[in-house]
Amino acid sequence: MALTGIEIFKMLPKTNCGECGVPTCLAFAMNLASGKAELDACPYVSDEAREKLAEASAPPIRPVALGAGARACKIGGEIVMFRHEKTFYNPTALAAMVTSDIAADALGKKLKDWNAYQYERVGLNLRPELVALKDANGDVEAFAAAAKKIAEESEFGLVLMTDSLEAMKAGAQASLFKRPLLYAATAENVEEMGALANELSLPLAVKGDGIDELISLTEKLTGMGIKDLVLDPGSREPKKCFEDHVLIRRAALKAGNRSLGFPIISFPCEMAGNLDVESTIATMLIAKYSSLVVLSDFNGESLFPLLLIRLNIFTDPQRPMTVTEGIYEIGSPDENSPVLVTTNFSLTYFIVSGEIEGSRVPSWLLIMDTEGLSVMTAWAAGKFSGDMVAAFVKKSGIADKVADKKIIIPGYAAAISGEMEEDLPDWEILIGPRDAALIPKFLKDFSA
Ligand code: SF4
Repeated sequence: MALTGIEIFKMLPKTNCGECGVPTCLAFAMNLASGKAELDACPYVSDEAREKLAEASAPPIRPVALGAGARACKIGGEIVMFRHEKTFYNPTALAAMVTSDIAADALGKKLKDWNAYQYERVGLNLRPELVALKDANGDVEAFAAAAKKIAEESEFGLVLMTDSLEAMKAGAQASLFKRPLLYAATAENVEEMGALANELSLPLAVKGDGIDELISLTEKLTGMGIKDLVLDPGSREPKKCFEDHVLIRRAALKAGNRSLGFPIISFPCEMAGNLDVESTIATMLIAKYSSLVVLSDFNGESLFPLLLIRLNIFTDPQRPMTVTEGIYEIGSPDENSPVLVTTNFSLTYFIVSGEIEGSRVPSWLLIMDTEGLSVMTAWAAGKFSGDMVAAFVKKSGIADKVADKKIIIPGYAAAISGEMEEDLPDWEILIGPRDAALIPKFLKDFSA
């Protein structure tokens, strides 16, 4: 059971030195209790108190690392029921399933196809993380060979799915460097799977026939010293699965139930007969509260929307996505190239810069810090006014880079042009298009 703020406070030094970033030990204790602070922020906690507090101040849902290299990911570690309460931290990992009876060349082709599903969006590379390898027929060698091929010939991490201890051991050893997730310990094999996970220091999924059995299994496994567990309550019907997920998250966060304080794995691939329905179910499970979703396949039409939904759910609602203020060169501009200015909202930057790139007209793009607001919002909020943009243009140093002092402002901010003309008398202020899609034509006309 998690400690209260007062209980934590009793174990702190009570010197109120403020080095942890808040003025008092009591405030720090409260932050620690609510998961808003890390124990390491206080350098003066005694070893004895540290040991007690480390357990109590651990996130109510344990973060578990999966995979290695480019697609390594962390799941779990969440501290709130709803995104608007603070944020969700670790995006749901996406896996596609393959069975161990697949021919080597067919597996190679699948991995190549799946690897190609990568999408650039707001400066991020959106892509899935894992392949779930399911034992088709108990063939230990085939299982290990497929695990090895996935581990060595792709960036993907693995979920190894088999009831056979022998196959699990062979598959895990063949892919050990990728830190695969072992699926799963059940009531029938909990000791053996637990011992294997312990021996290889690998994360272990636990499948229970309902929540009560799940709790008894996780208690047994944590008693064996295993910390990195992933929960499968066994439900394969969407409504029941949803209810189980909410119950598990509530129990972990609201009741401090450590036996359920682990990330959840779910299997839309076992809840539907086609990928479209699977993806719809996956959408719900990404929001409520699956940390790892296993699909029967990846294809662009279903994967891209899932990646976008995941991106939107796992961004911090209190912090808009931004790019750094400054001068951005697009396509090697020179002193005769056009100059455009816009705000530092990531989506604005990536849409505008993409359209400039598409125009093939080398340009200077000035990005002004508007605290991550888009043009219209920043203008309405008084953060993209004529005098502010003019001051930014002056301090940016762009005047030293161009011969022709013309600056293109966004069409939606046309109202600031008069004020800019007053503050930048040497510059000609041009009003660009409202729709970013019209930027290429505008720039081509401008440079003609
Ligand atoms: Fe108290 Fe430690 Fe914070 Fe200092 S750093 S105020 S001792 S909790």
